[in-house]
Amino acid sequence: MSTLQKSSLDFAKEQDQKDKLAAYRDKFHIPKDSNGKDWIYMCGNSLGLQPKTTQQYIQQELKDWAHFGVEGHFEAKNPWMPYHEFLTDSMAKIMGAKPIEVVIMNTLTTNLHLLMVSFYQPTAKKYKIVIESDAFPSDRYAVESQLHFHGFDPKDGLIEWKPREGEELLRMEDLETILDEQGDEIALLLIGGLNYYTGQYLDLKQIAGLGHAKNCMVGIDLAHGAGNIMPDLHDSGVDFAAWCTYKYLNSGPGSLGGLFVHEKHAYNKDLKRFAGWWSHNKDTRFNMRQEFDVMPGAEGFQLSNPPILSMAAIKASLDIFEEVGMSNLREKSKALTGYFEYLINEIDTDRIRIITPSNPEERGCQLSIQVKHADKSLHQKLTDHHIITDWREPDVIRCAPVPLYNTFEDVYRMTEILKTLL
Ligand SMILES: *Cc1c(COP(=O)(O)O)cnc(C)c1O
Repeated sequence: MSTLQKSSLDFAKEQDQKDKLAAYRDKFHIPKDSNGKDWIYMCGNSLGLQPKTTQQYIQQELKDWAHFGVEGHFEAKNPWMPYHEFLTDSMAKIMGAKPIEVVIMNTLTTNLHLLMVSFYQPTAKKYKIVIESDAFPSDRYAVESQLHFHGFDPKDGLIEWKPREGEELLRMEDLETILDEQGDEIALLLIGGLNYYTGQYLDLKQIAGLGHAKNCMVGIDLAHGAGNIMPDLHDSGVDFAAWCTYKYLNSGPGSLGGLFVHEKHAYNKDLKRFAGWWSHNKDTRFNMRQEFDVMPGAEGFQLSNPPILSMAAIKASLDIFEEVGMSNLREKSKALTGYFEYLINEIDTDRIRIITPSNPEERGCQLSIQVKHADKSLHQKLTDHHIITDWREPDVIRCAPVPLYNTFEDVYRMTEILKTLL
């Protein structure tokens, strides 16, 4: 036990000295102010920082392209033909999935649509979709447009799982009630596994169990979960999931997304889907005149040959995750976010309230902090102090101390400045 007072800079520094993962910060480019002082970057939930190795991974592919042209598909140091396969094992480990269940392809919203092509098969009687009321806008638009596409009116077909009056967090028993009352009409649950706004991490296995009991398909958006929590996707039993890799997975703006299809669907050739040459059996793909022969598992959902430069950036980051291991990351994450929570709660004001669950098992690293009577100028003042957070109207600051590159000192300094601004 430290003899230092917990809410002191010295205590924070001592935690950083003891931190087994402290050296990883130096593997990332930390944005700096004009005096060369590191920003306090708490926005890995929106765009993760760049690993210093990313440039070299992309350079390798540029070099091989210059050198080999089209032959790079087979002759490159990391041949482009199977390049996506180099990412699969690490990605599967991060998501708690089997390799056959995971592929990196397209972008998140695109993948949600492709997955709904397969897993949202409405009938006249069973056609409704459940989302959480605070779903990320893109997910809501995707779901609404799927309803429209199939001839349903979202006003009737879209069911929102809402927090209760005066609460921010979702209760599982309310989902249960929705399913009890309307389960026969519900075709699909599409839920943000870790809510982007509140930071609440839901029990995926429970959601899958509730949905499946009513013969609904269950899909999960893990944009804020991938590389943050350990979702055990295979064991959860959910039918499908999708996520992006530019948030906690640090693969660069607009980079490719990840897709999970549970093994129970891997060999179902009757599953309706949109197809392309990259969903076709690798062995005969280039015979070109073959009848369509879909690949088993998640790979069978690919359409196009993928952008290698983006995949190279993903590989740079996943190699770091592979080295660190999610359980070590998660352990530090709990300590770091727990310390952050402690410091926020120590601030002597009734203006502040953390809306993220206080149970570490029900959240990742993000804390959503509600500041009464605040407006966006508070966010601007934080930014003026080079504290990068994320503002959400009307009065919530979302902060994500990321265990790969944030420090205990970061959260200490952030809290000190927030205190002076209030
Ligand atoms: C970040 C995020 C998105 C972004 O979708 P893109 O298709 O990658 O632009 C979608 N949904 C959720 C829940 C997100 O957090």
